[in-house]
Amino acid sequence: MLNIVLFGPPGAGKGTQSENLIKHYGLAHLSTGDIFRANFKNGTELGLLAKSYMDKGELVPDEVTIKMLENEYDKVPNAKGFIFDGFPRTEAQAAALDKFLERKSTSITKMLALEVDDEELMKRLLERGKSSGRSDDADPAIIRNRINEYNHKTAPLKNYYSKQNKFVSINGIGTVEEIFERLKKSLN
Ligand code: AMP
Repeated sequence: MLNIVLFGPPGAGKGTQSENLIKHYGLAHLSTGDIFRANFKNGTELGLLAKSYMDKGELVPDEVTIKMLENEYDKVPNAKGFIFDGFPRTEAQAAALDKFLERKSTSITKMLALEVDDEELMKRLLERGKSSGRSDDADPAIIRNRINEYNHKTAPLKNYYSKQNKFVSINGIGTVEEIFERLKKSLN
């Protein structure tokens, strides 16, 4: 199984590159952000709870996020592999994912980290906010908080996967095609 953690700050291009990787490698996509948004749209209790954190640019609590991710994983029993997009975002999530995959007799193959500087992220997210309909993309204060959460709680995961020799840094500046080429190369 090919199990990829597609990693990076908000606005790094995880969603876009996930689509490319899914098509190319025939993987299943697990985006916790997308799943939270779908839940909110459907008016579930989980969606409402998640929204209260998302609106502030804060991370949804680990317990809720991990349980949801595991449920979604089990909905795709015959997958060739998975792209984890926007998950894990904390060390507790990463450890839970390792344990969960071990129970499924598989593991993370690689963590591909898209690297983009904060100034470029702010620019991209404000631009995306004009068309994405996402309220957390439209407000500079919320964006700053999301980048802050990333720098404090999520970026340390590079070290977590480094220790397992699974961390790969990918330059996230360039055209979509250029970045996709870098991702493919890192998987060969
Ligand atoms: P994203 O679509 O990945 O940018 O995520 C949007 C928002 O959903 C984040 O700002 C968080 O509030 C929440 N979220 C998504 N994934 C996670 C996660 N793995 N852990 C906690 N919160 C998450």
